[in-house]
Amino acid sequence: MSRIVYVNGEYLPEGEAKVSIFDRGFLMADGIYEVTSVLEGKLVDFEGHVLRLQRSLSELDMASPVDMDELLTIHRELVARNELDEGGVYLQITRGAPADRDFVFPDPAETPSTIVMFTQSKNLANAPSVQTGISVISIEDLRWGRRDIKTVQLLYPSMGKMMAKKAGADDAWLVEDGFVTEGTSNNAYIVKGGKIITRQLSNDILHGITRAAVLRFASEAQMEVEERLFSIEEAQQADEAFITSATTFVQPVVKIDGETVGTGTPGPVAMRLREIYLDESRKAAI
Ligand code: PMP
Repeated sequence: MSRIVYVNGEYLPEGEAKVSIFDRGFLMADGIYEVTSVLEGKLVDFEGHVLRLQRSLSELDMASPVDMDELLTIHRELVARNELDEGGVYLQITRGAPADRDFVFPDPAETPSTIVMFTQSKNLANAPSVQTGISVISIEDLRWGRRDIKTVQLLYPSMGKMMAKKAGADDAWLVEDGFVTEGTSNNAYIVKGGKIITRQLSNDILHGITRAAVLRFASEAQMEVEERLFSIEEAQQADEAFITSATTFVQPVVKIDGETVGTGTPGPVAMRLREIYLDESRKAAI
């Protein structure tokens, strides 16, 4: 079945959707995105994603072509039209397509932003990798300095995943000045003596929507949380490690640079957090 996608106000079969070759998203990665997961046909933490979208837009002085209430309608319409039960809705806004390629931002009054949205069907809740845990390698974090903005500049994270694949691992953790920043497309955590440790928020990492929810649930469940730097060596010696993102929820990490973490199987803290996150997300999904 051909997907129905949304492009600049229109719902179209995916093969008919078009964006200009002058679009700044295409030419300059001048765009931002969000991915909202869908469980049982409902949107998980939609408000969190919209708030971060607004922040990304504002940090880049970019206008939204659609008002935020309308975004919910479009998300729901795409889920319904594509009969999506489980997976995600991808949303991208770019600074539009000016008449020519130019480093200077176009006048938003003359060049409206481009908005594109589409659904992806994926098994999220019962992903097989949750039972085994994943392996990660560490690589140097060579991304730019505003990783808190969710831009479509995903070349280095994409290269990181390929480096991991080549090394026989599932993903990569990025390291800067001796400390883990985050995963290529997720936030990184370790567990030591029952305490959940993750890097503090700054411009160095994406402020994960799943991270915020998981840390809130952890505190509500009286689990101790410490937001601080940690190294690969500390992670290898931790009791557990895991990642979070909108599409993986909480995913255990069992191997780091070939070293087994803890027992080498998904740990109890990660699995408990995953269960709480899934229960709460299902309840609150809209
Ligand atoms: N860090 C990076 C670099 C990411 O790309 C992502 C997912 N887009 C995350 C963290 C996790 O964010 P979220 O929980 O909002 O999906």
